[in-house]
Amino acid sequence: MKVLITGGGGFIGSHLSEELLARDCEVFILEPGGTKKIRHLIGHPKFRVVHDSVMDMGILDSLVAQVDLVYHLAAVVGVEHYVGDPYQVLNVNVNGTQNVLKAAFKYGRKVVFSSTSEVYGRNPNLPWKEDADRVLGSTRIDRWCYSTSKAVGEHFCFAYSKMGLPITITRYFNIFGPRLDKLDAGRIITIFMGQLLRNEPLTVIGDGRQTRCFTHVADAVKATANAGLQDDTNGEIFNIGTDVETSILDLAKMMIEISGSSSEIKFVKQEEVYGDSYEDIGRRVPDTTRMKKLLGVSELSPLEEGLRDTIEWFRNEPQ
Ligand code: UDP
Repeated sequence: MKVLITGGGGFIGSHLSEELLARDCEVFILEPGGTKKIRHLIGHPKFRVVHDSVMDMGILDSLVAQVDLVYHLAAVVGVEHYVGDPYQVLNVNVNGTQNVLKAAFKYGRKVVFSSTSEVYGRNPNLPWKEDADRVLGSTRIDRWCYSTSKAVGEHFCFAYSKMGLPITITRYFNIFGPRLDKLDAGRIITIFMGQLLRNEPLTVIGDGRQTRCFTHVADAVKATANAGLQDDTNGEIFNIGTDVETSILDLAKMMIEISGSSSEIKFVKQEEVYGDSYEDIGRRVPDTTRMKKLLGVSELSPLEEGLRDTIEWFRNEPQ
């Protein structure tokens, strides 16, 4: 089986590349950014990197023509982008996804579209089944541009599905692990990581009682690989994640304890970190029944174990 992973040089893409190579697939990746996260795979006889973007229809067309299956992971993600550069978020996530679907439709190739738990917004009725409502704020709040861009991508998937294209949608819940973003940037675990390594206080926003379901990337890529390789997933949406909820304050305590850092906890106001164009989500919990039943990923790694290997990795990785 030949597969294309758009954004294959990113965090989830690099782990998915490993997973698919281990399953004897031939893996092509399309990656406009650096290759730091996949440098250990370069030279593998079944791994090929193309340095380009999903915004280039020509290159996409020629790559999609050569493969059997497309995992579309390329996207602009990270709260700093939602509030700092909403144009790029919307442009790449909406138009790039259209390009991928257009090429896949031309050649009749299945697409696994990586979406997000952000599509549910702040729906208060937890846990969220895949057909739960989307509850979002005003378009004046830039934060919602990411959720909206991914929901547009999902709508495009279903529109193409109606025209006969096999598609599957995966919605990720706070995936973490080695190679996550880079220190001090992106998501909470890398922000805390940078602070821990410098023995600085961990900046907990608000009272820290907001929760997330932190999911180890090894579990996420098993589920993602299956979503593409199985036929019974066509036309489906899957929540990908654990349903074990952890508060941000508990996460901070756990990371201090595991790392042995002398960092303390500092409570900060949301506006100090993200300005006014941000609205936090209080709780985010998936219903994981469908993932467990259809994708066969039912034993998920405990958070503490995952944090240990992630902290270890960041300690040893020159940034
Ligand atoms: N957060 C925090 N301190 C920070 C950055 C983020 O307490 O320095 C909180 C943020 O308010 C949110 C949670 O951590 O409740 C997760 O944030 P992240 O940026 O990882 O992404 P999200 O899950 O909100 O998409």
